[in-house]
Amino acid sequence: MAPAEAGPPRCLICGSRDAGERYRITRFRVVQCRGCDQIFLDPLPSPDEIRDLFEALYSRGEGSVPELKDYYGYCYDDEPSNPLVQQYELWLETIEAMRAPSRLLDVGCGTGLFLSVARRRGWQPFGVDESIEATDHARQHFGLRPWVGDFEMFSGDGQQFDLITGWDVIEHSRDPVGLLKSARRCLAPGGIVALSTPNQRSILDLVAGFLYRASAGRLTLPLEKFYIEQHFLYFTPDSLRRCLERAGLEVIRQESELTDLRRLRLSPVVRAGLEGLFLAARLLRRENRLFVIARAR
Ligand SMILES: [Zn+2]
Repeated sequence: MAPAEAGPPRCLICGSRDAGERYRITRFRVVQCRGCDQIFLDPLPSPDEIRDLFEALYSRGEGSVPELKDYYGYCYDDEPSNPLVQQYELWLETIEAMRAPSRLLDVGCGTGLFLSVARRRGWQPFGVDESIEATDHARQHFGLRPWVGDFEMFSGDGQQFDLITGWDVIEHSRDPVGLLKSARRCLAPGGIVALSTPNQRSILDLVAGFLYRASAGRLTLPLEKFYIEQHFLYFTPDSLRRCLERAGLEVIRQESELTDLRRLRLSPVVRAGLEGLFLAARLLRRENRLFVIARAR
């Protein structure tokens, strides 16, 4: 493993070392690049730490945010009642209004749930993921044959796809522009890329950031619920568009969405509070998630 880089943090999007502090929370600072406005964590956890973290999240639901204990439990069964399956069906409806089902590559396919849903709708499923445990499930439970390893390696062998998806992948990347360039290289003529990621310009940051500033930086708990160690990057609608453009992609559709609260383990009081916040988010256009479709420029 390479030693941690010394000096000020380097922006993962534009490479600038000029970043201002936005928040200081327990394990990290949340900083904002002065070159491109991208918001990211400093310092980043090591690749080994991240591997252990995901192993614990997937296998035991353990992590620094107890509310996420069940979140990954929805990644296993292709059942109509599964909220994650319902989300995938909605995304595919939007995509299929633009492209008929054809060759699909899911980057970070994990357990293969999305590929299973897409296959039912007529897509030819291909997937790539680094997790041996998750891809075992894709093979044994869904009969898929995902490629296990790094997408950078996979993208070099000349295969082409009409749709490349990355659901909540880009915020985990140490080289998001490189990741998107690899995706662009794998696009068949006229192909599209579809991504989802948390929206930093959300009501959650607005409220938690206000509480942080009002308490002179002492009240960090609300921020710690969504600035989490496995998410290195926090995109806004604009910064995500600019990141795609750096990789030679242009946004052709962008939507803001809300986390499905059915996937979170919450007390009734917190759930009611979040439902109220999400109602306000809709009115203020400050939803906490982004969904984009892009094509090669
Ligand atoms: Zn930057």
